Amino acid sequence: MALDAEVKKMQAAGVPVVSLGVGEPDFATPTPISNAAKQALDEGFTHYTASAGITELKQAIADKLKEENNCNYTTEEIIINPGSKFSLYLTFQVLCNPGDEVLIPTPTWSTYIEQVKMTGATPVLIPLSAPFKLTATDLEKYASPKIKAILLNTPSNPTGAVIDPAELEKIAELAVSKNWWIITDEIYEKIIYSNKHLSVASLSPEIKAKTITINGFSKAYAMTGWRLGYTAASKEIISAMNAIQSQTTSNACSIAQKAALGAFTPETETTVQAMVKEFTARRQLVLDHLSPIKKLGVTAPEGAFYFFVSIEKLLGNTYPTSAKWCEALLTEKKVAVVPGEAFAAPGYFRLSFACSRETLQKGLQGITQFIQD
Ligand code: PLP
Repeated sequence: MALDAEVKKMQAAGVPVVSLGVGEPDFATPTPISNAAKQALDEGFTHYTASAGITELKQAIADKLKEENNCNYTTEEIIINPGSKFSLYLTFQVLCNPGDEVLIPTPTWSTYIEQVKMTGATPVLIPLSAPFKLTATDLEKYASPKIKAILLNTPSNPTGAVIDPAELEKIAELAVSKNWWIITDEIYEKIIYSNKHLSVASLSPEIKAKTITINGFSKAYAMTGWRLGYTAASKEIISAMNAIQSQTTSNACSIAQKAALGAFTPETETTVQAMVKEFTARRQLVLDHLSPIKKLGVTAPEGAFYFFVSIEKLLGNTYPTSAKWCEALLTEKKVAVVPGEAFAAPGYFRLSFACSRETLQKGLQGITQFIQD
């Protein structure tokens, strides 16, 4: 977000920056969603709602979780939050006390680390190397009585890695055997290029009891500005989250909640499929462009809309860190990517392909030229 602010500042000053930094789809919010919002406005649905969200939407989410994810949740086991970032914040606030530890595989989205710290608990980082696929063996090495929870994010931001189904089961079983909570951020579930997404909570009733499933509308439905996410977990967890939500933000925006009902329609599903098709083509475009460059370490993402590229071979006296390299790329070629430091993984950059093919081509050319120079 800091980089995005810098890019917007440069663009406002007339500098033609090509941004491959953003983590939001460039598509318009699907029409059934916007139409449902317009209708909510026309009908005057513009007041407070129940803090945990409107029943209609909680029911629609419960139905979705059953049909698509094979998870049975009642409406009392679901809370609608103003963005899944806030779902995560509430989750950590509810679970963690000072002295607790939370296992976070890296590279990771920095929000998890900061939100764990906000509770006084300690994030314990588990470094993974390419292709960044977490295994139960990775986790086992970090087992300690202080661990309260593990964080899973599959498909992942920033790597696009998807945890293998058999491994996901082993990880979940390990967590249950150690009495760890499983916090699973599944916000990129629909943007996937290989297998179908597998939800941790669907694996067994014992696993579901220890799982907190987080999801949201931002990525699949291009709704980042609407601020709408949700959490599914046991009644106790949801009611504790609701206690904090009701004393902080009250409810998620009433209009956005009504709008989200438009997400669960065949028309929107078709639009989502078209978006994923376009992401698939852009992913190939990046692969074709960057794979032949020997000095880069490129792993094809299995989900989400990011490449996490190793530039370790390009670092040295001129650019000692990936942060310096990315800064120089921005200054010299006016191309913005996010340095690995932002994801607790120096030596890399994250490239987002949630932009037009034209922008992507320009950005890729800038990167290639910068490496050649
Ligand atoms: N989880 C992950 C992994 C993300 O990458 C993001 C946004 O970048 C979010 C959650 C937050 O999404 P929201 O817009 O619902 O707060």
